[in-house]
Amino acid sequence: MTLESKPFPLRPAWLEIDLARLRRNLQLMRRDLPPGTRLLAVVKDEAYGHGALDVARVAVEEGAWGLGLSTLEEAMALRDGGITAPLLLLGERQESELEWCVDHHLTVCLNHPETALALARIAAARGKKVPVHVKIHTGMTRYGVRWDEALPLLKVVADCKSLELEGVMTHFSQSDETDKSFAHLQFARFQEVLKSMQACGISTRMRHVCNSGGFLDLPSMHLDMVRTGILMYGIFPSQVCRRIEGIEPVMSVKARVAALQILKPGEVVGYGMRYTASSLRKVAVIPIGYGDGFPRVRNEGAVLLHGHRAPIIGGIAMDALMVDVTDIPNVAMWDEVVVMGRQGGLEISARDIAGLKRSVTYDVLTSWRLRLRHRHVGKVPPAFQSRLGPI
Ligand SMILES: *Cc1c(COP(=O)(O)O)cnc(C)c1O
Repeated sequence: MTLESKPFPLRPAWLEIDLARLRRNLQLMRRDLPPGTRLLAVVKDEAYGHGALDVARVAVEEGAWGLGLSTLEEAMALRDGGITAPLLLLGERQESELEWCVDHHLTVCLNHPETALALARIAAARGKKVPVHVKIHTGMTRYGVRWDEALPLLKVVADCKSLELEGVMTHFSQSDETDKSFAHLQFARFQEVLKSMQACGISTRMRHVCNSGGFLDLPSMHLDMVRTGILMYGIFPSQVCRRIEGIEPVMSVKARVAALQILKPGEVVGYGMRYTASSLRKVAVIPIGYGDGFPRVRNEGAVLLHGHRAPIIGGIAMDALMVDVTDIPNVAMWDEVVVMGRQGGLEISARDIAGLKRSVTYDVLTSWRLRLRHRHVGKVPPAFQSRLGPI
């Protein structure tokens, strides 16, 4: 691949990552947290599409205790990239993965006694004592041991000489909506577990329950650490949760005008002829489509061009979408277009695109495809240039 070489031409559609904004978001979040509360930067799924290694480096520099991941491959890529901070593997591990975890200092979340015992055997065989976190299911019904059946697992872990019960955690089903009653129920169940641990003399250093929503809205539940993903990337998890002034989106998607067309009255645009001009229109073709992760819309959504909104007309294709630029003066070939992000005083947010997709911002961030190369903007030391950048 010669993508690395400097003069390699960038396709006229790309994804911009502003690591200076990421750094600022992390600083604002740290300032918002009580000094004793740790932060786990959740960088699963390539840091929600932002590039896990770059985000991990910035997060560690900004004082994150460790990084949250969901697969062994994700964790190994960070170790290969030189990250030495604790890596917490969320979810469940297959037995075949455990020796990798021990050998590369990856911290496992335990949900079952069998996994605990298998991990303990491997650690003991290597003469190691490895930290683990026990995951409690308090109502989410995803990973974790049920809150009312958790004690036997905690006892197994506490009794294994080669395991250290570093953390005990749970995860909220709903933390960013106005109604916090289920989060309170989950927290009460979690506290029951902590109480029964105490009664049995089982201790742990890190109790953690909050994701971004809990971090923002449930300060009494921060405990020893919060696990934040979406907020670091500058997106508030919902429209009703608390705002922190100055948090800004890290990711933008941009492109350039790749064709200009004139539509005469009665003429049509795109597959399925979904748009018919009622008057003379000017059309710009933007070389980005559902093959890049844009939702497959028809006559819905817009891009920003010269500080104006240009509405999408017709159905979008795999590699292109068409916008009406009749009312925008002086549109020329290769003019820059914002597909997601800000231009002038206007914004097309991840939430706007989530609306088009009938989905959530998390899905929008992680759905942009790798054929959109990443371009780093903002002041970033050269070490932070990702493998796909710079352009
Ligand atoms: C993904 C994840 C998080 C982060 O959630 P955000 O809403 O992005 O902050 C925290 N904890 C667990 C267990 C997760 O899976």
